[in-house]
Amino acid sequence: MSTEPDAKPVVDTPEAEEPPAPLTPYEMDRYECRPCGYTYEPVKGDGKSEIPPGVPFTELPIKWRCPVCGSRPKMFTSIGPAGKPSGFSENLGYGLGVNVLTPGQKNILIFGSLGLAFLFFMSLYGLK
Ligand SMILES: [Zn+2]
Repeated sequence: MSTEPDAKPVVDTPEAEEPPAPLTPYEMDRYECRPCGYTYEPVKGDGKSEIPPGVPFTELPIKWRCPVCGSRPKMFTSIGPAGKPSGFSENLGYGLGVNVLTPGQKNILIFGSLGLAFLFFMSLYGLK
């Protein structure tokens, strides 16, 4: 009795190991210095610290400091890539009246309008 060896062809599926496309400087996040408002733009780099254009903020040397006020990178906030319309995230807080209300204010609005609806309903009954 000879057991037939399972012919298991070793399928070497070549995995598509495509390296992720490198971000263009326009897709890298810009970072704003909170103390002074300076914006590090990867597109421009930082000439004063000899940072060439195209270096993402996260890969700046540890010793890098804000060229304007000397703050550490910790003090910087991501303000999104240059490719996006600037100021979008900053403007989210404006113009959305109901969304900036506190829960308490919302309750007042909700119960207030419910009360008004109830009164309106009762007044309809009163007319009959
Ligand atoms: Zn600064």
